Parts: sequence; structure tokens; C-alpha cells
Amino acid sequence: DALIIYKLVRLSRDRGDSLTIRFLLKKLDIDLKSVTEPFDDSPIGTFTATLFSSIAQLDNDVRSAGAIMGMKQAIKAGRWLWNAPLGYKYKYTNQKSYLVPSDDADTIRKIFKDFIDGKKQYEICEEFKESGIIITRQHLNNILRNHLYIGKLKTKLFNYELMDGIHEHIIDDVTFYKAQNILSPDKNHYNIKYKDEFPLKRFLKCPDCDRFLAGSYSKGRHKRYAYYHCVTKGCSFKPVKRELAEELFFAYLDSFSIKEDIINNVFEKIRASLNDKEKDSINILKNIKKEITLLETKKAKIEELVIDGTFSKDTYHKKMNEVES
Ligand SMILES: [Zn+2]
Repeated sequence: DALIIYKLVRLSRDRGDSLTIRFLLKKLDIDLKSVTEPFDDSPIGTFTATLFSSIAQLDNDVRSAGAIMGMKQAIKAGRWLWNAPLGYKYKYTNQKSYLVPSDDADTIRKIFKDFIDGKKQYEICEEFKESGIIITRQHLNNILRNHLYIGKLKTKLFNYELMDGIHEHIIDDVTFYKAQNILSPDKNHYNIKYKDEFPLKRFLKCPDCDRFLAGSYSKGRHKRYAYYHCVTKGCSFKPVKRELAEELFFAYLDSFSIKEDIINNVFEKIRASLNDKEKDSINILKNIKKEITLLETKKAKIEELVIDGTFSKDTYHKKMNEVES
């Protein structure tokens, strides 16, 4: 008996598998013949066969290295490449897949809201079950920890570093990190550092439809321009240049800050009032000292009068008591 194949690569691209199959065939007394690669059971034949499958393996490795490079590029460009989690679906444009919020996005929003409002995970699962939506505890836990919902990508290919996604976020950062704090209170989640090209997208909402704005670049003739824009289809809100948005945002923040002259004024008043109090205390102290000296002189005079014989012993005690009191 013989198994005739076109090429060894067709048997398996993995060298180990290829050898295992050949070993099995040999045990079953079946010959393996390749139409394009002549080899037999002689030492040279075995060597040639191993060589061919090594080449197949190399070809395979090169292919997957190429695939990983392609994936890394896509992730750097902000695209998620795996299954769309609950709340998102895939939209295809120019043969590329993009995450967009699905009808389940509201379910995700409710999960996060309930959770940071203090509901337990099993309670959330129960409530969804009552309304006919089955979410397991494990699934719920995964949802609550998924950075995709705040518009970030976290992948093994980049050592789980947080990177900016181009998809719309469903959950705002504050809500998400509150949830992380409840899930594991010991970790300092706010300390996670990542570069965000559009930091204001957490704060800016579209005045027309109340959704959070997204950030992106548009290509001008000579350079790229950064914009904050609304993600709602057909919304009339015009994109705002990032620089302008930041300027306006800082101006807004400034409106909350206390002006320097007001601070100085307050400090001066405090200083003046403290000075007055200090002066008062000094005056009181002076007066007390004056009084003490006065009394001391009185005492001395009384003693003199006793020595003179003007005062009797009784009068002395009476007068002294007056002074002491
Ligand atoms: Zn809008």
C-alpha cells in the first residue's frame, strides 16, 4: 500500500506532525510517496524528507510571523481584531472590520451603572435573567473588566499595554475605574499610565445629541489635523479642532479658579486681624503689669506705715487683705 501526496507540505506544515504521520504510516506498512519530492526509506531519502518538511515548517513560521506583523499594525491603528464583545458589533468598510456599538450597548451601560451603584454581581445576573437575558457570572465579570468599553485595546501582542482604539466608547473612564476599584480595591487603577491623544473625549459631549465626542485625525494637504467630533450619524454638530477645544476647556476651568488678587486680599485681612489680636494681648499684658506694680507699691507703703506706727496690726491686716484681693 502507498499514500501518494502532491507535496510534503500538504501532509503537514508542522515538522513534528509530519514525522509522526510518516512514523505511523511506516508502522502500518504504508509507503509515503510525494509526486514532486522524490524520497524513499534509504538514509538519503529520510534526510531529504526531513529537509522538505523543515522547509515547510520554515514557510509556516514566516507566514505566521507575517500575520502577527499585520495584526500588530492593525492594533496600532486602533482596530480590535477578535470577537466583538456584548455591546458591540462589527461593521465592514473597505474589507476592514470596525467595532461599532450594537443594540446591547444599553445593557452594558446598565450593568456598569448598577454595579457602581452597589449592586452585587449575582443580583445583576438575576435581574437580567428575569428580563430574559442570560449573562453568567463569569461573563459579567469579564464585561466589567473589559477595557474595550472605554475605547481602549489591551492585547497580548503588546504585553497588555493599554492602547487607543478607534471605536466609540460605551462607558466613561470615571465609571469604569470606579468599577475596577470595587472589583479589586487594593489595586491603584487610576495609576495606569497611557498616552491619550484626545484626553478631552471623557469630558466633552455633543451639545446636539449628548453623546461623548470622539477624537480623530483628518488629513489635510500638508499635515494631519486633530479633531473632536460627534459619532452620531447625521448629527449636525461640526467637528472642533483639538487645539480650540483644549483652549476653550482651559478657559472653562479658569472660570473656577480663584483670582490672585482675591487670594492676596483674603490673606491681608487675616494678617491684619491677627496683628490686631496680638496688639490687644500686648496691651492687656501691659495693663496687668502696671496694676501689679501699683499694688506692689501700695503694699510697700502700708508696710512703711506699720513700721512708722501709723497703722495698728489690725489695720495692717485689713489693708493688706484689700490689696491682695
Ligand atoms: Zn451629536
